[in-house]
Amino acid sequence: MRVAMIGTGYVGLVSGACFADFGHVVTCVDKDASKIEKLEAGVMPIYEPGLDSLVEKNVKEERLFFTTEARDAIRNADAVFIAVGTPSRRGDGHADLSYVYAAAEEIAELMDGFTVVVTKSTVPVGTGDEVEEIIRKKRPDGDFAVVSNPEFLREGAAIKDFKIPDRVVVGTDDERAREVMTELYRPLFLNETPILFTARRTSELIKYAANAFLAVKITFINEMADLCEKVGANVQEVSRGIGLDGRIGKKFLNAGPGYGGSCFPKDTLALTKTANDYNSPVRIVDTVVEVNAARKKAMADKVIAAMGGDVKGKTIGVLGLAFKQNTDDMRDAPSLDIIPALQAAGAKIRAFDPEAMEEASHLLSDIEFAKNAYDAVEQADAMVIVTEWDQFRALDLDRIKAALNSNIVVDLRNIYSPEDMAGRGFQYTSIGRPLV
Ligand code: NAD
Repeated sequence: MRVAMIGTGYVGLVSGACFADFGHVVTCVDKDASKIEKLEAGVMPIYEPGLDSLVEKNVKEERLFFTTEARDAIRNADAVFIAVGTPSRRGDGHADLSYVYAAAEEIAELMDGFTVVVTKSTVPVGTGDEVEEIIRKKRPDGDFAVVSNPEFLREGAAIKDFKIPDRVVVGTDDERAREVMTELYRPLFLNETPILFTARRTSELIKYAANAFLAVKITFINEMADLCEKVGANVQEVSRGIGLDGRIGKKFLNAGPGYGGSCFPKDTLALTKTANDYNSPVRIVDTVVEVNAARKKAMADKVIAAMGGDVKGKTIGVLGLAFKQNTDDMRDAPSLDIIPALQAAGAKIRAFDPEAMEEASHLLSDIEFAKNAYDAVEQADAMVIVTEWDQFRALDLDRIKAALNSNIVVDLRNIYSPEDMAGRGFQYTSIGRPLV
């Protein structure tokens, strides 16, 4: 199959490279010329484990191409994927669909022969209808079908998630489109991946419902963590105690500083907007949005309290800036709430992140970036772990202790044990676990 991928970001690039690796011929298109230049030079514009070698292999074997020029890619494609961004619209929180609609206009102009137009971007219910109308208006006699195929990959594990997904969801009632989509994903039959065919609107809603459910789960355990702190219980044991129940499940029950990233914050918000538009509010999601936003802000107060209530003139060594490990993505990262609040309280920040410092430098000001974790805490008045990178999980704690000006450690990811840290002489604060 010949595939055109419009938008070469986290989703478009990973999906494009994986489809190419399945044996399809894929052209990834992006308006951002610097991204395409980098890719053509073999440099990844994002950090995603394993992506560089996957791209290199498929470029070499002539199944994966990059361009800023959509014309040939769309004209020759059996399927054109729209994988552009759908950020929150400024002011009202609805998904901004301008990039999706612009891509639809472009596809309408250039498509040739039967073309399956696939919305891979996360889009509100009814967007497929709108995309169809845009294309139909421009090409009244065009031969095409618009399909919803939401993406569930997680940054940091994106290749595995794409190649061995829990499920593939395809929303269409067009038989020819169904055949094309089946052929595209046929290599997954080997792993017996379920392909769920639904109506287009159902498929669009599945993506939001999935993300909202996961956000509810995280927020639930975060609130349990707060309660644990008050009543002297341990949230990790609560998680395990409930997660072993098959109806609940173990995943997404790690308490932390609140969810961030490029999807949950904007998708939960967009779902509440859609629900309100249809006069069918999703109150549980409304609450989750509110609770999570407040939580991210409250994390700075937790750090300040751990440091005795005053951080004026103090230096804080921050480990981790990305919204989670194994990515350089800073979109809506908790660090973007925590660090400015600490700075506003008078603290100086020295931070280290293995991959996200370049991106963070555009979003945070007056930070000193460190060479590594030890450098970040050198002569600092506290160490604060914000992102759970593997390399922070087994730090040389004697070296940390010697580097720090104090013995204060705030671990917002619960990657160390309170008993162990207390035993080593740290004044250790974590999330939802009793102080020792
Ligand atoms: P991104 O911002 O990393 O990438 C989007 C890319 O599209 C950018 O490079 C931009 O230059 C390009 N673009 C925009 N308009 C274009 C056009 N008309 N022609 C060509 N290129 C164009 O975004 P992302 O994180 O890959 O997300 C894309 C979509 O996938 C969003 O709807 C998102 O919600 C969804 N999604 C993201 C993830 C994730 O983990 N990032 C997971 C599942 C779903």
